[in-house]
Amino acid sequence: AKVQRGNTVRLFDPSMQAAVSARARLVADLKEALPQDQLRLYLQPQFNAEGQVVGAEALLRWQHPGRGLVAPGQFIAVAEESELIVPIGRWVLATACEMLGRWQEQPHLRDVCLSVNVSARQFRQPDFAAQVAQCLDDAGARPHLLELELTESLVLENVVESIAKMHQLRTRGVRFAVDDFGTGYSSLAYLTRLPLHRLKIDRSFVLHLGERSSDDVVVQTILGMARNLELDVIAEGVETQQQRDFLGAHGCSTYQGYLFARPMPVEQFEEWMRARPA
Ligand code: C2E
Ligand code: CA
Ligand code: CA
Ligand code: CA
Repeated sequence: AKVQRGNTVRLFDPSMQAAVSARARLVADLKEALPQDQLRLYLQPQFNAEGQVVGAEALLRWQHPGRGLVAPGQFIAVAEESELIVPIGRWVLATACEMLGRWQEQPHLRDVCLSVNVSARQFRQPDFAAQVAQCLDDAGARPHLLELELTESLVLENVVESIAKMHQLRTRGVRFAVDDFGTGYSSLAYLTRLPLHRLKIDRSFVLHLGERSSDDVVVQTILGMARNLELDVIAEGVETQQQRDFLGAHGCSTYQGYLFARPMPVEQFEEWMRARPA
């Protein structure tokens, strides 16, 4: 091959070439994931202060024929860039709503809320609200059991449009949480304008609770702010009893993390719930 000067030389760098083709292979494989029925939802339980399961977060997994079970960190970004996130996100929503519909028939599951992660590109679809409404209707799911997790940056990107979309769904009963709260702009002004149900404190702040005073202050501030705005708070990534106790002492109401339970396949979650004392 002819070697040129300047930027084009990079094209001949073999490691770069390898990275490009690895990514292309990932995209090609990901295109097959939906038609080949390789996507799975895992569920991680959410607990109230009394230790009861009040909800679960749906977390995507990819059962790849060669690589095994792939975590979302490995493919969500690529799915976003390639727009594959749109059909994938729609599948997640439809599957989550079907689950809620199915749970209505089962006493030990009928009041469990389901939190679903929504990506920026998915939320930006003009008919996003209609898609969610359709999924709920098709499945016969109660809308207030569905919580959509949005990130701060997603909402802030186009505040006016975001608020309009959220209101459409909020009036039907769908709830909204700000995911990874504290990692973005954390502007009080926008919080009061959004039809939010709760804030989800990011794992990075929970990690050093009780050891790093700056994180203690951030978490106390978030909890105080939420109390004044009458928002619920859930903490993610709770791994130790000390973290749990600190959060509880400052008014956190709901917990999710390895201290309580790891994400598990849907059937395992249903079985686990059946075995729990009511
Ligand atoms: P996230 O929304 O912040 O989800 C929480 C992540 O923390 C999950 O990783 C969960 O398994 C993990 N986690 C939960 N408890 C603990 C803990 O105690 N300790 C530690 N170290 N980790 C904990 P996961 O399942 O790998 O998901 C990673 C990210 O992928 C999610 O972060 C979310 O942003 C994204 N994601 C997952 N499912 C979907 C989906 O259906 N759609 C979209 N758009 N994104 C998704
Ligand atoms: Ca989340
Ligand atoms: Ca999160
Ligand atoms: Ca997070």
